[in-house]
Amino acid sequence: MRLVLLGPPGAGKGTQATRLVEKFGVPQLSTGDMLRAAVAAQTPIGLKAKAIMDAGQLVSDDVVIGIIDQRIDAADCAKGFILDGFPRTVAQAEALRDLLTRKGLKLDAVVELVVDENALVDRMRKRVADAIAAGGQARADDNPESFKTRLEAYRAQTAPVSDHYASRSELRRIDGMAPIDEVTAALNRALGA
Ligand code: AMP
Repeated sequence: MRLVLLGPPGAGKGTQATRLVEKFGVPQLSTGDMLRAAVAAQTPIGLKAKAIMDAGQLVSDDVVIGIIDQRIDAADCAKGFILDGFPRTVAQAEALRDLLTRKGLKLDAVVELVVDENALVDRMRKRVADAIAAGGQARADDNPESFKTRLEAYRAQTAPVSDHYASRSELRRIDGMAPIDEVTAALNRALGA
């Protein structure tokens, strides 16, 4: 199963991806998680990406395409993967198709979680409260100012990715405002599982 999950920040992509990992036994490839790991490890990519991420802007296409290109070659991706947070620009979507073609692979599905934007800030606040209640820390970019920039980046750069896949008849849209279990059920139906 090679799947792309699309949707704005706070749409529930991470939550649903975790469930799909269990069901299909393929890894979740979150460019956000990989970049946060690079920041924590202070790798050259991490050092460059930190300020951009904290501000809620997008890291350059070359960097994330390179990360995904390499990651897909790992043994645990042999049966597939769930892309969460990538592609985020039309250029990334095109690069993804090219790199998969080069590897002799193709996507099985592209699914968008459609959500009401008004709910997203509340979901972000809840994610912060949950992280703190669990004894952890909130993400550096989960604050109202960065979140606003992330939503603007989504509208300007990532919403066109949905249109890109829709124009190729590759996109399935599901209601991301439904309760989590219902979203999972709809996702499974969309995937024919
Ligand atoms: P996420 O965890 O998906 O919300 O990503 C957190 C941050 O990492 C984003 O706000 C961007 O700064 C960066 N990022 C993650 N994925 C991408 C991507 N595909 N393209 C550009 N920047 C990304």
